[in-house]
Order: sequence, then C-alpha cells, then structure tokens
Amino acid sequence: MGRALRLACEGRGRTGENPSVGCVICTDNGVIIAQARTADGGRPHAEEIALESAGPAARGGTAYVTLEPCRERSSGAPACSQRLIEAGLSRIVVAVRDEHPQGAGGIARLKAAAIRVDTGLKAPAARALYRDFFEHAKSGQS
Ligand SMILES: [Zn+2]
Repeated sequence: MGRALRLACEGRGRTGENPSVGCVICTDNGVIIAQARTADGGRPHAEEIALESAGPAARGGTAYVTLEPCRERSSGAPACSQRLIEAGLSRIVVAVRDEHPQGAGGIARLKAAAIRVDTGLKAPAARALYRDFFEHAKSGQS
C-alpha cells in the first residue's frame, strides 16, 4: 500500500476533477505484477491501467488501491469494481472509502461478488491525500 500511495502522490494535481489513485496488483504469494496511478487528466483510472498490464496473471491475486474502486462511471464505461471482479482477483485492500456520492458503493459491489475486501490500511495518509477531493464532493452535494 505504501507503493500505491507513492504512485497516487505522484499524480496529485494532474488528474483533473478525478482523484489521483494508486493501484498495485500482487499475485497470491506477494509478487508485484502491475502498478499504476490515475492517468493525467483523470482517466483511465489506476485500476484499469494496472489490470490491463497484469492481464490474466491478476486472477487470484490481490489489488492494493488507495481509494475505494468506483461503482459507476459517468462515462458509462465499466466501473473499476466491475473490472476487478471480471479479472478474478481474490482480495482487494482499500485505504479509504470514497466519500463522493457517485464513486461510493464499489466495496459493496466487490463484496457482493464474494471478493474479500479489507479497508483502512494506511488510511490516515490516504485521507490526507483526498481531503480536498472529499470536501469538494460534499459541498457539491448540497
Ligand atoms: Zn475507477
């Protein structure tokens, strides 16, 4: 998760309205097979890029993601939670839940697909990284 957070920090301020997310995918015995951050401009999302580069090797593995994978995409493209399910990952480790109303719900979706989800690893660092994004998301709600 430290590596995923470093990736996310590298993209800070470069991802437009989308948060900069870091994603690291490991095999079930802990070998890193892919890592990515949200692309400049905000898309593709970190999970999309990492899954693409991991390919079939992601099956059965673990993904470390700095922010809850998205549940829905405004663009209509498959959401990251859906992509993670289809890639066959067995476990997702998430630093912080997404407080944005459109993004939240990805964890529930993963759990509904019987994927193990652990939340809260390095949460303080991730929360600091997304403070502005969360605040903006909340103010936009009212
Ligand atoms: Zn996403």
